[in-house]
Amino acid sequence: MEAGTAAVKQRVVRPLLRWFRVHRRDLPWRRTADPYRIWVSEVMLQQTQVATVMPYYKRFVRRFPDLMSLARADLEEVLKLWEGLGYYRRARHLKRAAEELVAADCGQLPNDYDRILALPGVGRTTAGAIMSLGFNRAYPIQDGNVRRVLCRLGAVGDDPRSAAVQRWLWTTAAALIPRGSARRLNEALMDFGATLCAPRAPRCDECPLAKACGARHSGDVLAYPRRVQRRPVPHYDVTAAIIRRGERLLITKRRAESMLGGLWEFPGGKLELGETLEECLHREISEELDITVRIERPFVSVRHAYSHFRITLHTYLCRHSRGRPQAIGCDAWKWVRPAELSAYPFPKADRVVLEALASELG
Ligand code: SF4
Repeated sequence: MEAGTAAVKQRVVRPLLRWFRVHRRDLPWRRTADPYRIWVSEVMLQQTQVATVMPYYKRFVRRFPDLMSLARADLEEVLKLWEGLGYYRRARHLKRAAEELVAADCGQLPNDYDRILALPGVGRTTAGAIMSLGFNRAYPIQDGNVRRVLCRLGAVGDDPRSAAVQRWLWTTAAALIPRGSARRLNEALMDFGATLCAPRAPRCDECPLAKACGARHSGDVLAYPRRVQRRPVPHYDVTAAIIRRGERLLITKRRAESMLGGLWEFPGGKLELGETLEECLHREISEELDITVRIERPFVSVRHAYSHFRITLHTYLCRHSRGRPQAIGCDAWKWVRPAELSAYPFPKADRVVLEALASELG
């Protein structure tokens, strides 16, 4: 598919927009043209499914309806609303970007691609989405759906991450945008990829673009885009101590700059070569907090997959035995009553532990 020719517009853009008029998805962030809300939705949609994002988006914009409310919010409350959505750096970036904009006297997102692109956590696709969906400006986007549709239409069989294909994708996506219709075209491409030109079961027989589709003509639609071999995902064993002192439990706040930064957890860490799980637990607690504990018994083990690795989290019920905690390997620590735990943002794996703990403690 050559980008930008009148023939391509005739064979692709017009039927696509006709299809979109009938099949447009009704999504909560489509009911607004507010660039702030579109920005929130786009950040949430990075690496997360639409259905998962919906309730989070609604809660988030209800609590933080505009840039100012987000800028003034407590980070912990932002993380609490993000709890379970994963990739918490996105929430921290949103908050920081809101603070930066408000500090620069912007009451709302600027209608300026370069300034948007310079915000923390905003890449080319998110900036393109904010500009096109929020301001209807002619900027392309490249999410997984758009990439797949374009690679199939153009029968592009090379690695979609290669510089040459990336260049082609951006140029083609930009060239398809009709004057004054960036929002419609980009939404149409996304919806078309999400519903009709789906990854494993594209409905080519119903497709209004079939005549223009190179992959369809090749006879092997699923060969496009080329699947990239994934590296094997490493697995780590991690220990965590549920430390009790009287009625209270000890929780620690992860370092702001670390993965899952700003979230609370039961202290612990990664098993090192040659260690037993119990040795690992004693070492981690000593290194992180400079205290000693007595292990009472193993509690639950939780398996959890992150984007680039998997863990098994082995938890132990422990009693505090000596020392006042020092925040050496964490940003803060607290003794809390079990009933207070739900007020703190925890990573997903720890939430499973919390549920088991609620049953255990009655
Ligand atoms: S013909 Fe099939 S592969 Fe080609 S754009 Fe349509 S749904 Fe996608």
